[in-house]
Amino acid sequence: MLKIILLLVLALWANASDVRVQILGSGGPELGKRASSGYIVWIDGKSRLLIDCGGGTFLRFSQSGAKLEDLDAILLTHSHIDHVNDLSAFIKAGFFTDRTRSLPIYGAEGNDAFPSVEVLVQRLLGEKGAYAYMSDTLTPESQSFQVIPKVLTQKNNTVQMQGYKIQSIGVHHGIVPALAYRVDVQGKSIVFSGDTNNENNSLGLLAQNADILIADYAIPEHTDKIAKGLHMQPSVIAEVAAESKTNHLVLSHIMRRSEPKINESIKIIKQKYKGKITVAKDLMTLKP
Ligand SMILES: [Zn+2]
Repeated sequence: MLKIILLLVLALWANASDVRVQILGSGGPELGKRASSGYIVWIDGKSRLLIDCGGGTFLRFSQSGAKLEDLDAILLTHSHIDHVNDLSAFIKAGFFTDRTRSLPIYGAEGNDAFPSVEVLVQRLLGEKGAYAYMSDTLTPESQSFQVIPKVLTQKNNTVQMQGYKIQSIGVHHGIVPALAYRVDVQGKSIVFSGDTNNENNSLGLLAQNADILIADYAIPEHTDKIAKGLHMQPSVIAEVAAESKTNHLVLSHIMRRSEPKINESIKIIKQKYKGKITVAKDLMTLKP
């Protein structure tokens, strides 16, 4: 009997998923104790995905114990500074690692005001870029590893990775082309809203039955029209989380205008959404 129980425990242990999401930066573009936006998806103890890399995430990445060699890709939600600022620093740091395999950087399309991920990377690391001395990284002749920007349209996209799946969808964020991402791995799902006011209702579709939804909580319920055109009010976050049947909602991208109203905002969210709610902190790790 004891043997059977032991075998059962072992079988369960072997099947248990080892997926975690870690918050590198829970803040926005302001100075403060929180780094700007950034998250890691850990799979079986390896830092496989970096989602956004705003200011301060470079240091938090090291503090988390993550390795650049283990990254399968970087996913950028949009090209606002607080989501991409540390990108060049990560590429430069990669030069001093053992990494040789290419690194895809996924991101949004461009428009008249904002560059596509491809143009952004060219403007940083290309031959005419600010850091042209690193331009070999965009070629197969790279002295370290090749950086390959990959544009995802605003439609629903699926990228099949080794052993897991990434989906993206265009979300409304003022005039900024922006994406939300979903990662499905070992039967678990983690959704990153990026910045959005969810005007086009696409976030809920992506977040269906999500185990974790990391949501853009940059504004309180009552604020000005411009801010509401860019970010979700707590009542909108509640709608998305409730309608998508999200299991665990994480409030992140916390700003000076939203942080003091956090209790009031959670009350508003709880009127509609009955699942678990966590307020993000830098370096916090969550298990879906
Ligand atoms: Zn933004």
